[in-house]
Amino acid sequence: MDEFLPSELQALLATARAVAEETLLPEADSVDRDCLWPAAGLQALAATGLAGLTVPSRLGGLGQRLLGLVALTEVLGQSCASTAMCYAMHCVATAVIAAKATRFHEEHYLRPIAAGRHLTTLALSETGTGAHFFLPQTRLEPRGDSFAVNGTKQFVTNGGQADSYVVSTTAGSETAEGDFSCVVVDRDTPGMSWGAPWRGLGMRGNASRSLTLENVVLPRHHLLGREGDQAWYVFEVITPYFALAMAGTYLGVAGAALEAAVQHLKTRRYAHSGQAVAEIEVLQHRIGQLWTGWQKTRLLVYHAARLGDLGDPSALTAILACKADAANTAVTLVNEAMTLCGGMAYRENSTLSRLLRDARAAHVMSPTTDMLTVWTGRTVLGLPLL
Ligand SMILES: Cc1cc2nc3c(=O)[nH]c(=O)nc-3n(C[C@H](O)[C@H](O)[C@H](O)COP(=O)(O)OP(=O)(O)OC[C@H]3O[C@@H](n4cnc5c(N)ncnc54)[C@H](O)[C@@H]3O)c2cc1C
Repeated sequence: MDEFLPSELQALLATARAVAEETLLPEADSVDRDCLWPAAGLQALAATGLAGLTVPSRLGGLGQRLLGLVALTEVLGQSCASTAMCYAMHCVATAVIAAKATRFHEEHYLRPIAAGRHLTTLALSETGTGAHFFLPQTRLEPRGDSFAVNGTKQFVTNGGQADSYVVSTTAGSETAEGDFSCVVVDRDTPGMSWGAPWRGLGMRGNASRSLTLENVVLPRHHLLGREGDQAWYVFEVITPYFALAMAGTYLGVAGAALEAAVQHLKTRRYAHSGQAVAEIEVLQHRIGQLWTGWQKTRLLVYHAARLGDLGDPSALTAILACKADAANTAVTLVNEAMTLCGGMAYRENSTLSRLLRDARAAHVMSPTTDMLTVWTGRTVLGLPLL
């Protein structure tokens, strides 16, 4: 697929592959086993300039949008899904900041992100509304020249590690058009407190934690866009970037599992017959099916990203559909790969067992598979999404 990508993106992918090979892959097992937040991997990505992936070029960033995000997260997800997710959440939050950045946002967040000096992340999900990530209950209340923020976020990736948090809230005032705003909260702002680290089945290095905001006072310029920018933020910025970052990550996980299965079939040979497992026709058939499913999903994901970057009116349907499809493909493919790789793959802490546990998060990561599939149907039927 690389040969169809713009040359500047191919160069970024070469850089990402080098970081993945030198830093992410060697650390992937310990990140998973010990629930380690992948500091070295994220630092290596920042050192090569890749932390500024979604920062506009005029601010020193790489100026990439959905296609670049998919391609990079796929490469990283192939080596370490936890690092890919931490990086993905940083890039998505950066895109949200960049979408309607003021001078303050540019100088305080986007330039330092491009320089690899600032990690940001996305804090949307809440216990009360769960998969309905577009319905925050965290309150934003005007207090003179400031806002007070009150509420609790769940599952914040890079929790306690990032320098800033893009937090979704209700609208600040009743005159706002919708009931969804976003603010940026700097780390250690008084009133922030963190829950205990959350231990997942997979994605174990992502440092997910809950975040409570109790009377967190923010100057008004920490607001992103306008108060109550609901539909615009949710469907023009957050959903496309969030969905494609996750689709890329899980395409990578699926690709790693396929590669493991191919290697096993090619290298395992039976003593009694001298036959390589790859010579068994039914297994050739199964690998053929897996490759076809993976490539079909890749084509849909990359197509959706291109349509999104072009601003094509049909982009949203493809974007909604492709993340659900990537989740289905990842879970199915890794599961099948484990069968193809036999008993050794089933051992505790095998690479495939990590990939299987990582893949399993794909369905419940927002936007979730069921929500996306319903939304895909609604856009096809010409019905409103909400
Ligand atoms: C590893 C990991 C990292 C995460 N990182 C972040 C992060 O950095 N930032 C962040 O904001 N969030 C993050 N999340 C949260 C995630 O994005 C989801 O919001 C969350 O997992 C879903 O909420 P819930 O667990 O309360 O599910 P529930 O709301 O309890 O949903 C349960 C199931 O019901 C389905 N469902 C619910 N309503 C509908 C409906 N109307 N139609 C169809 N199906 C429906 C859902 O799809 C889901 O499968 C993370 C989650 C995980 C597992």
